[in-house]
Amino acid sequence: MTKTSHQIRQDFLDFFQSKGHQVVPSSPLVPGNDPTLLFTNAGMVQFKDVFLGAEKRSYTRAVSSQRCVRAGGKHNDLDQVGYTARHHTFFEMLGNFSFGDYFKREAITWAWELLTEVWKLPKERLLVTIYHTDDEAFDIWHKDVGLPAERIIRIGDNKGAPFASDNFWQMADTGPCGPCSEIFYDHGEHIAGGPPGSPDEDGDRFIEIWNNVFMQFDRQADGALLPLPAPCVDTGMGLERISAVLQHVHSNYEIDLFQHLIKAAAALTGKQDDLENKSLRVIADHVRACSFLVVDGVLPSNEGRGYVLRRIIRRAIRHFWKLDGLAPEGKFWRMVQPLVEVMGEAYPELVAKRKLVEQALKGEEAAFAQTLDAGMTRLQDYLAASGNRIRGDQLFQLHDTYGCPPDLIADLLRENADKGWALAEGALDEYDTLMDQQRDRARAASKFAGGVVLPAELVSGLKPSEFRGYEELEADGCRV
Ligand code: ATP
Ligand code: MG
Ligand code: MG
Ligand code: MG
Repeated sequence: MTKTSHQIRQDFLDFFQSKGHQVVPSSPLVPGNDPTLLFTNAGMVQFKDVFLGAEKRSYTRAVSSQRCVRAGGKHNDLDQVGYTARHHTFFEMLGNFSFGDYFKREAITWAWELLTEVWKLPKERLLVTIYHTDDEAFDIWHKDVGLPAERIIRIGDNKGAPFASDNFWQMADTGPCGPCSEIFYDHGEHIAGGPPGSPDEDGDRFIEIWNNVFMQFDRQADGALLPLPAPCVDTGMGLERISAVLQHVHSNYEIDLFQHLIKAAAALTGKQDDLENKSLRVIADHVRACSFLVVDGVLPSNEGRGYVLRRIIRRAIRHFWKLDGLAPEGKFWRMVQPLVEVMGEAYPELVAKRKLVEQALKGEEAAFAQTLDAGMTRLQDYLAASGNRIRGDQLFQLHDTYGCPPDLIADLLRENADKGWALAEGALDEYDTLMDQQRDRARAASKFAGGVVLPAELVSGLKPSEFRGYEELEADGCRV
């Protein structure tokens, strides 16, 4: 009998509790202590000030299962979702933390104990990376754990492609950071991809399951590294990735939790026999991100966090449209019930705010459904007229008149890359310029402004989320 993802989450919390860690609940997706960060993107976010020494807790060791969103900001995986076996917009990060308490030796040996003794993973399938100059971590892996030297790969801080291994972890452009050691699982020769550090490391054969960060510095805005008051440990393991390993499947989308959501999406679209379908996977992924964002106080809008949410919702709706068309009463909101079934027990706030979530998704679908069809027809015309290359002014029209955001269009073009569909060179820059001009003309913007109107009793108690990180967002290519 394989373990369910619930059991795996619990195993992790229990293991570190038995090593003296305080179990700390997940914090919301909108970081309470950091208005420059778009979303909580790692387990350490709620402990940022503790690492920096600005906040004291009654404990020096903590363990959590943190809900995370990586769809904008420094860590933005939105474009990868549906194209890799391992990336989601929303995922749960299991993590153990030391605030000036233990350091590398305990972190590494406990990680190994959990993986190979508690979960009994075959040792020969595991390999690790270390920061290229970190001889201390090398010695612990090699001498204490007994890992052969050829399975300990030294990697520098590679500031290249988004996937490129980078063994110097940073939460954002500033803040706590340090060298890290990552643990990879080899899913087998039959899957394409090389080990970390090799030219084809982007494949899905060697999947990074667990990052152990040895927090030592506070990165300043000018790039300087100030030492933290004490060395700390921050680890993060994707619950969905370790569940795939422990449930003997390759892709995250094949784990228990996702199977349930994908089946629900299939039933809604009459595609029960095609669970490999990419659109079903995207819908299953997006309903988690959208629901938890609403639970945590974000509503669809044309700015900041609300705009990211709007884009994710519309992308999911476009996939419903593609599979089977839309229904007058809406479809996406019907995914909330199956989500409650698989995640409600671990997240009572999802159960409590279910109605609000359903209404937010329903309202957004109703608004978008009126124009999506026309937008898609217009896109076809554009493709035919401009040799399958979409220009910036056309992107602008599709967004402004039909409510189709550029990343939704980019997703669609990528799906049809074999037909030669693509963005014209400079299209996104041109789109940005046109958006800026429009904003200058009238901040009121398009007819999609204002978002969904929700009944007052549902919204009461939701704090509007303050967000001041536009510069960072734009620097990361996330258009607001
Ligand atoms: P990758 O290289 O696969 O993109 P990462 O190096 O960006 O992952 P970290 O920032 O080190 O990831 O986060 C710690 C852990 O969180 C990862 O080892 C992985 O298990 C998990 N994780 C990171 N991003 C995602 C995602 N988008 N979806 C699911 N799990 C993720
Ligand atoms: Mg990543
Ligand atoms: Mg990585
Ligand atoms: Mg990593």
